[in-house]
Amino acid sequence: MNFRDIIGQSPLVENLQRSIRLGRVVHAYLISGPKGAGKKMLAHIFARALLCRHSGDRPCDACPSCIKYNTGNHPDVITVKAEKSSIVVDQIRDLQKDMYVKPYEGGRKIYLIEEVHTMTPQAQNCLLKTLEEPPAYGVIFLLADQLEGLLPTILSRCQILRLKKVSRERIAALLEERYGLSPEQAHLIAALSDGRVGRALELAVDQDYMELRREVLGRLEALAEADIMAVFNLVPFFTEHRDQQSLKLEILEWWFRDVYIWKEMGDESLIVNQDAKELLEKQAELFTSSTVQDIIKRIEESKKQLGSSVNAQFIMENLLLSIMEGKQTCLS
Ligand SMILES: [Zn+2]
Repeated sequence: MNFRDIIGQSPLVENLQRSIRLGRVVHAYLISGPKGAGKKMLAHIFARALLCRHSGDRPCDACPSCIKYNTGNHPDVITVKAEKSSIVVDQIRDLQKDMYVKPYEGGRKIYLIEEVHTMTPQAQNCLLKTLEEPPAYGVIFLLADQLEGLLPTILSRCQILRLKKVSRERIAALLEERYGLSPEQAHLIAALSDGRVGRALELAVDQDYMELRREVLGRLEALAEADIMAVFNLVPFFTEHRDQQSLKLEILEWWFRDVYIWKEMGDESLIVNQDAKELLEKQAELFTSSTVQDIIKRIEESKKQLGSSVNAQFIMENLLLSIMEGKQTCLS
């Protein structure tokens, strides 16, 4: 991967390459964008360019430094990830201690802090000191899904790089070219990725997700014809495999957003579930627009509740019943 592989972010990437050419690299970059937007990929390419032994505004991928980097063996690249659910102050203290050890290979030392939006306030306050007075060789990349919750003093000490959503057409073209996907598959995955290139690249090789999606859509078809007993029979599918619960809700949410778009705008090009238009059309008949809006709200609430201590069985039962009832209200 190189700068040319980053699509849809031209002004930002050009600016970064210019800063390398002109020697105007700063000590802290905050890369923001939704999960799967490609923040890590951008940080790694930029970091590799900064460590590369060849002069130029991109990593050469051939020098000893690039080779070490690409095999995960570069001693001057340190990654900090959230332990459990957040980045805590002790992790930042460890980073600070490490930062005063000079680079092994000369040049620079790179710190990549992932999921910065999960940082505790204490950890952020602790990091401030480093952002104020970093050693000359230190470059820190902070990666955040969103900027909310970050101290203004952190934001003001970083150069902020915001990744934009990329158009479906560009993502689909990339998938066709890189993975040899058919135009239909490429467009479906591009739509499901919602403008996030990293997510699209993951989905392109994730057969499990596509299979899970097929299963969820199959259950939706059953739900449209279900009575109360049948709904209760559907619950175990939605609660099994804890790590899939929120993915299933995400698939449901995309689905009902499509139902809403179909009803309100009838514009096929805006639909995510491009391969299921027949079912979409059927379901659009079953619900009123306001019921669909209610269902989407309920799905969003359910996603939040899943993250808390509420019982998944209870959440899913309520959600599925409200979908079934929404349909009945409409028909009566
Ligand atoms: Zn190199």
